[in-house]
Amino acid sequence: MWLYSAMSGVFPRSFMAKVFFVAFVGTHVPLLALLGWALGHPHMLAGGSLHVLGVALVATLLGTGATLLALHAILKPIYRVEETIRAFETAGTAEPLPFGYHDQVGRLMSSTNRLILAVDDRIDIERRAAETDPLTGLLNRRGFDARVAEGTPGAMLMLDIDGFKAVNDRYGHAVGDTVLRDAAVILTGTLRRRDVLARLGGEEFGVFLPGLTIGDAREAAERLRSAVAGQLRAEQEPVTMSVGVAIARAGLSRAALIAEADRGLYAAKQGGRNRVCMAVVAQGGMATA
Ligand code: GH3
Ligand code: MG
Ligand code: MG
Repeated sequence: MWLYSAMSGVFPRSFMAKVFFVAFVGTHVPLLALLGWALGHPHMLAGGSLHVLGVALVATLLGTGATLLALHAILKPIYRVEETIRAFETAGTAEPLPFGYHDQVGRLMSSTNRLILAVDDRIDIERRAAETDPLTGLLNRRGFDARVAEGTPGAMLMLDIDGFKAVNDRYGHAVGDTVLRDAAVILTGTLRRRDVLARLGGEEFGVFLPGLTIGDAREAAERLRSAVAGQLRAEQEPVTMSVGVAIARAGLSRAALIAEADRGLYAAKQGGRNRVCMAVVAQGGMATA
């Protein structure tokens, strides 16, 4: 590192300049030796030696130029490694570096490729874990928000298990957990692939149905409610869900959309549970129907 460190004082920002400098000095040694010799033997300069000196000078300059061009080209892989790592740091993605070369620079490129893939995998695993509910394997709120862009046209459903506290009290927390997992399976099996289902709270699930309008959303909500009522059990006891529905529209934030579906859910609970209610926006305020 000593030469690299020493030259960093002279060329702090360019590795190419350091290599060029070394090559420049190296390629000029024969010429300098010849010059020194000629100066020490001035009588020789009178003869044909001047021509020899001229030829050596031109040859050295041409050689230096060619060497500098070749160095510029051969240092390219090192620059590509640096550019690739920087691209991955800033954009999170990078084109793979060329592979199949076996010297130190080739191995540096292969190692960089492997390292980027490994870091990318780890980021994916951590992101998935951060967006997943460990009990049910569904998305959590963070995952839901990441998949439902604000302003996407569609319908929002809020589903909440009825009397779930009593399930826990009667059968224990472990049975309650099984009910939550079973509910996730039933809901997943009833939805389309592009619908986004998440566990948004303790026994509360959210579904975003892209592209659905009021009539279809109500139908979908009813399908979910009846699938749960027909299949979900705590031991042998049927367990039901209440559902609130809201429709996304321009200017309504995701949080406001969820809050609106929540008001529908509240109305469903008030109405006796195991039912679907839609939050209806009435002039001058909110009403539910
Ligand atoms: P409602 O019909 O009004 O929704 O009544 P509820 O009993 O379902 O609602 P409440 O909010 O009173 O109770 C929710 C319960 O859910 C209380 C809490 O202990 C339970 N709970 C929340 N998270 C979990 C969980 O991960 N596992 C289990 N087993 N229970 C949970
Ligand atoms: Mg509940
Ligand atoms: Mg609840």
